[in-house]
Amino acid sequence: MPPFTRPATRRGRRLSDHARLLQCVQQILERSTQAVPWEPETVGLPDARSGGALARINDVAFYANARNEVATLAGVCVDLLLLHSPDGSEQPDQTAGRRCRSCRLAWPCPTFGEISRLLG
Ligand SMILES: [Zn+2]
Repeated sequence: MPPFTRPATRRGRRLSDHARLLQCVQQILERSTQAVPWEPETVGLPDARSGGALARINDVAFYANARNEVATLAGVCVDLLLLHSPDGSEQPDQTAGRRCRSCRLAWPCPTFGEISRLLG
């Protein structure tokens, strides 16, 4: 089961889809910023799938930048979710009559729907 579809609770109360998704990307951001930066000496380099030097350089570049790139992408997701959130917070499961704080479209707005679809 993907982590974004797992039910989550806060103090025994079921979180809204928005709160659950925001919590997930905030946890990804936290884990990536707290992770030790990768260097070949820290945890090594997985075996290459091909013997090509160019592919190996690509692998090294990926691992070397992954921590910062994951943190950046998770930060973008957090910012987008904070921008596109439902107005009011009294009834997190109620969507009728609510609007997005940013785009003012009916909640859930298309931006949140797309983020949810892509991460879910
Ligand atoms: Zn919106």
